[in-house]
Amino acid sequence: MDGDPARLRKKLDELLVEAAEVSVALDRADGTIQGVPHYSVIEGRAHELGQQLSRRIQERQMAEIVASQVPKASCPGCGRRCELIPAKRSVTAVDGGIALQELKGYCHTCRKAFFPAAGDVGV
Ligand SMILES: [Zn+2]
Repeated sequence: MDGDPARLRKKLDELLVEAAEVSVALDRADGTIQGVPHYSVIEGRAHELGQQLSRRIQERQMAEIVASQVPKASCPGCGRRCELIPAKRSVTAVDGGIALQELKGYCHTCRKAFFPAAGDVGV
């Protein structure tokens, strides 16, 4: 994706406007919101969409971090250099369940798997 911040901000703003429009249309189309609902219903649906976006951003950020890391790490048990492969792990974040991508190593000497990046990213 293009790295120009001004262009990316403009695109994000356009996508947020479109997401809000589609969300409102969807809630009306499927009957989630009918007539004049209590404001808490409107706020709840908006918050739910925000949480969905939050989970997507977290998953994407972790995938970017994994893609930029070195594909080998030392085994915490014996220190042997081991290959790392991308693996998904289910995590419950503040905004709900997400599948985070991280690097997983397996030491054939210790016969154990390890996740070297988990502590580095605060998960
Ligand atoms: Zn080991």
